[in-house]
Amino acid sequence: MARLYRATYPAGSHVFRQGDVDDRAYIIESGKIEISTPQGVLAVLPEAEIFGEMGLLDRGERSASAKALEDTSLIVVERQQIQSKVDRADPVLRYLLSLLLNRLRSTHRALSELGQLVDDGAANGARNGARKPTLKDPDMAALNEAKRTAVDELHQHALRRLKLEQEIQQAVDRKEFFVVYQPIMRLQPFNVSGFEALIRWKHPERGLVSPMDFIPVAEETGLIVPIGSMVLDTALRQVDSWRSKKIGPASVTMAINLSARQFFEPSDFEAVLKQVTGSSVPPDQVKLEVTESIIMDNPDRVGDILTEIKQTGSRLSLDDFGTGYSSFSYLHQYPFDVLKVDRSFVSRMVGNRRNHDIVRAIVGLAHDLGMEVVAEGIEKDEEADALRKLDCEYGQGYRFSKPLSAEDATAFLQQRPKAA
Ligand code: C2E
Ligand code: CA
Ligand code: CA
Repeated sequence: MARLYRATYPAGSHVFRQGDVDDRAYIIESGKIEISTPQGVLAVLPEAEIFGEMGLLDRGERSASAKALEDTSLIVVERQQIQSKVDRADPVLRYLLSLLLNRLRSTHRALSELGQLVDDGAANGARNGARKPTLKDPDMAALNEAKRTAVDELHQHALRRLKLEQEIQQAVDRKEFFVVYQPIMRLQPFNVSGFEALIRWKHPERGLVSPMDFIPVAEETGLIVPIGSMVLDTALRQVDSWRSKKIGPASVTMAINLSARQFFEPSDFEAVLKQVTGSSVPPDQVKLEVTESIIMDNPDRVGDILTEIKQTGSRLSLDDFGTGYSSFSYLHQYPFDVLKVDRSFVSRMVGNRRNHDIVRAIVGLAHDLGMEVVAEGIEKDEEADALRKLDCEYGQGYRFSKPLSAEDATAFLQQRPKAA
């Protein structure tokens, strides 16, 4: 992925000129940029605007020049950062994009020519006493305004997204990610069974950023691979440290989330297996979690991959069960050891007969297929009680503990848990 880099342009200098071939786009961090053709100024762009994006997509000739009106700092977006997205996009979308770009380029050309005509016409018109048509006509202004409002939201979204990608890259380099551990409790008899490792990002300005906000982006850019590898390494070392210091039960397990990329990209998958087998933690204390949606998106490819994981001796958990559009019938095909019932069922099971029955059915089916069950997101005593009555083996949720720092997780293991 492209690195974040900035370029500064002193007042009066050109970023590019009309006719240049350049495949980068620029985001104005501070300063002002004037976009112009020989016919006149098209726009003056302030901070946070993006320009040059067409060249980024099709490497065409610049249809206008860009000049700094004051000392200006730009964030440079390289073609590489966008190209991987375009490559992965749906072919229909790619086609539409190229169509749109061609149209936009012809419109630009037509507008330039029109500008020329307008200038010539102005000279003629002045002689004939006709009104001079300009691009400042009210119709044109209204059109521009409408267009601007329509793209503004999209634009802001894309900018935030590009910035986030670059920040994630920086965060990897600056080691801003760390791992927390949420206890997974055996419900009866009540004690700690293990932990789930969860990633956290301490952003220098925004504070803690939720994994929900950056995991999907990290996944798309491939940065999930170094991040995931760090989580795996840190979490396995943590178990090793507890074992060597004889803290908590010797059999304490560590659940680690795998992303689609770590699962389906052969070299990344190999790296995961290597990390698991290369660690001194007994493999059956490692539980690799794969979400139901990952399985459902690629039902044909998962069988072999899951079997390979099983061959390392690690255990396999099916995460977020109930959130995908799966049917129960596929469950028996795959060698999962654990089924994690999604929080959305757990939080609605008390006082709701239907949801309670759904959880009962899920637990029953899992047991019939030889799987153990972890209920996710337990927040109330009533939920823990109801799950215990359904013979659900394990529970995880704020009722028992929020995700903890390594230090707090160690303390959690050292104290006897109070019955819940
Ligand atoms: P998940 O695997 O389903 O993890 C459980 C999430 O539920 C965690 O959110 C946890 O903090 C939250 N949670 C636990 N108990 C409760 C509760 O009682 N109530 C409520 N409201 N929430 C509870 P978190 O840590 O924000 O993680 C969100 C998701 O991000 C995870 O969902 C997982 O899909 C992903 N994720 C987190 N860490 C990693 C990682 O290292 N690698 C990958 N690939 N994904 C990760
Ligand atoms: Ca999980
Ligand atoms: Ca889950």
